This record gives sequence, C-alpha cells and structure tokens, in this order.
Amino acid sequence: MMDDISKTDAEIFDAIKKEGIRIRNGVELIPSENFVSKAVLQAYATFFTNKYSEGYPGKRYYGGNQYVDVVENLAIERAKKLFGAEHVNVQPYSGSPANQAVFFALLNVNDTFMGFDLNAGGHLTHGSPVNFSGKLYKCVPYNVDKKTELLDYDVIMKQAKEAKPKMILSGLTAYPRKIDFKAFREICDEIGAYHFADIAHIAGLCATGLHQNPVPYCDVVTTTTHKTLRGPRGAMIMCKIEDRLDKEGKKTLAQKIDSAVFPGLQGGPHDHVNAAKAVAFKEALQPDYKEYCKQIVKNAKALASSLMNNGLELVTNGTDNHLMVIKLVNKGLTGKGKEVQNALGEAEIYVNKNTIPYEPGSPFNPSGIRLGTPAITTRGMKESEMKVIGECIAKVIDNYEDKSVIEKAKKDILELCKEFPLYPGMEILR
Ligand SMILES: *Cc1c(COP(=O)(O)O)cnc(C)c1O
Repeated sequence: MMDDISKTDAEIFDAIKKEGIRIRNGVELIPSENFVSKAVLQAYATFFTNKYSEGYPGKRYYGGNQYVDVVENLAIERAKKLFGAEHVNVQPYSGSPANQAVFFALLNVNDTFMGFDLNAGGHLTHGSPVNFSGKLYKCVPYNVDKKTELLDYDVIMKQAKEAKPKMILSGLTAYPRKIDFKAFREICDEIGAYHFADIAHIAGLCATGLHQNPVPYCDVVTTTTHKTLRGPRGAMIMCKIEDRLDKEGKKTLAQKIDSAVFPGLQGGPHDHVNAAKAVAFKEALQPDYKEYCKQIVKNAKALASSLMNNGLELVTNGTDNHLMVIKLVNKGLTGKGKEVQNALGEAEIYVNKNTIPYEPGSPFNPSGIRLGTPAITTRGMKESEMKVIGECIAKVIDNYEDKSVIEKAKKDILELCKEFPLYPGMEILR
C-alpha cells in the first residue's frame, strides 16, 4: 500500500517516464495543451481523490466534508475574482460535460440554438451531428465570411432573426481572431435569446484583459481549466444569478445551472481536481500570469509571421489570440492534414490536423494544421525561438515525405528544447 509506483508498477512507471522525456524533447504546439506548475500537480495528487462529496459546500450528502468545502469555496471565490462572475460552479468534470449541463439548464430537447460552424472554428459540443448537442437539439450553424474568413455580425443578426434560436453559443476552438461577445449580446437581446459563451481556449486571455471578457455580456460562460488557464483537466460554469428570460420561474439561473450539473448530470465532484483548480486560479491572479498571457499572444504573432515568411498560408492571414491554422491547400496538400501532422510529429513538433473554413477535404482528412503557443510560452520560449520553430515547420511541410529533412528538423528542435528544461529536478524524470 505504501510502496512507490516505481516498485509496484514498472509498466505504468515506464510510460510516465517516457512521456516526461517526450514532452521535454519536443515542442508542444497543440493550442489546447499546456504545462501545469508543480503546485498544481501536487494538489492534484492528493487524498482528496478518495472523498465523496455529492452536493455543494455546506449542503453535502456525505459526512467529513469540512476540508472539501474549504477547497471548493476557495476555487469558487478565486474564479469569481478572475472573471468578475456573479456565480460559479467548479464541479464539471471537463469542458464537454460543462457544456452539456448548460444545454440541460437552458433548453428543452428539440429546441433550436445557433453555434459556430465546426469547420470554421466551433467545438464538437456546439452542434456537431455526432454529438449530443446536434442530436438532442436543432443546431443552426453560423459561419465565417468565405472571403475574409471572419465572423460577420450583420449576417449572424439576419440569420438569428430568421432562425429565432432560444440560445446562441459563441466561442471557439480553432478561430484565430477575436470574438466580439458584445455584438453577440446585442443579437441575443434583439431576438430574446440566451447568450452562452464557451471560452475553453481563450479563458486566460479573457481573465487578463488580452481578449474581451464575455462574462458581462453573457447569461452563461463555460471554460475548461486546462488550456490557457494552465490548471488541471476540468471545467467550470459562470453565470448571472437571475434568469433574464424566465423571471416568473421557480428557480434562478444560478440554481438551474447548479442542479443541471448535480444531480442533473454528475455525481460526486472530483475534489482533488478542484483543489488543483483553486491552486491554478490563485496563480492566474498573480501579475506574472498576465505577463505570461501577453507573451502567449506575442509568440503567436511571431510564429505566424515566421510561417508566412516561409511561404505558408494562414486562415485569416494571421492571429489575434494564441492559435493559428495553416492552410495546406495552396501547397497542393488538400486533405493531407493527417500526413503533415504525422511528419511534424516525427520531428517532435506536436500539432493537430484541423479543418479549415469551407473545408474541401473531410474531418478525418482535413486541409489544415492548427497550432498555438500556450505550452511553449510556459516553457519560457520567446519571439526568437518562434522564428526557428516556424522555419522548421515550413521545411517539414514542404518535404513531408523526406526522412532526411524530418531528421534535420528533429535535431534542431532538440537543440532548442535543451535550452528550456521542462520540470527541472523532478524526481520521476531522473
Ligand atoms: C476543449 C474544448 C471543449 C471541451 O473540453 P473537454 O475538456 O475536452 O471536454 C469545449 N469547448 C471548447 C470550445 C473547447 O475548445
């Protein structure tokens, strides 16, 4: 019971060690990933994982929750401060169940809502036909303009007036520009719809003023905690206390959200994760976190410039946030996202294949590569490293079937990574 994992489970221990070496030797450019602090890892790996605490602070179905309440209350207070939210629920297990709880709270099955087209930047839970959001509800997607690849709020307003959705979902998973949450609010006010923003990707930028914060303009906002927020895998829901559209109802909006999470969807909260969320929120309230977020955006702009200077085309020709999408079409690589992702992976450059607006390929064989800077910025990399990484990526894409080019890029990346040690001194990586 008290032996080290290195003695009790050689197979898992070996995989953990190898994963540590993999993340040290490569550049992590998947924009939804990050590296949490040692303090977050420590909070996560605690005996709070043993506890059952169904319910909410002060109103639990099990005994022995006095310290769980301390943790959950701190997580809630810190999250409120970070975003200026009226009400916060930190119990959602991850981004997808958080979104599911919001759908349950605001809509009835078969109700109509509007969400961002998946190819252009929306998430699976924003109305994909293979997801609960597209199966249980009627999704009318809005899209970017074909030419500018930008959201056009006049077009969305027109569409909303016709479709009369009960809810409009704003938020992104692959859109490289800023979102005007205030404009979405005006559209929602015009037609009497709920405004729900999902800021899973950009939460850190919203909390630090580098992107418009949607909280003042929304009924409900969800976010994951493991992307730019740099916390453990998980999510939270922020909302107004009062329900604007249901003033006579028995429940407030805050009560609807809380009961949709528990008992509507989930059982016991993951208290060890919530402890780690609280630690991450405290970190995000420090001044150096804002500096970190500023550097994420600077690095993204530098990486975008390097990619474009080396002959690659980007969706919207650049980025305003932490991510960008390379269009492979003008390289004659339509539908080759998977092959390019694998070639870059061999060079230890980790990215993900992605659809592009009005995708000419398919979701499984798309024509884009999505990448971003949250993780490498945590490692301490700056603009000069972005230039080198951009050059390596462009060379590999231009020669994605040439093993010697991939080998050379892998060497260059390894050299670069040695200067930015990840989790230095961590026992398990010795
Ligand atoms: C990542 C993401 C989610 C889902 O988060 P999971 O934790 O993977 O379930 C939801 N919405 C958006 C916009 C995301 O980017």
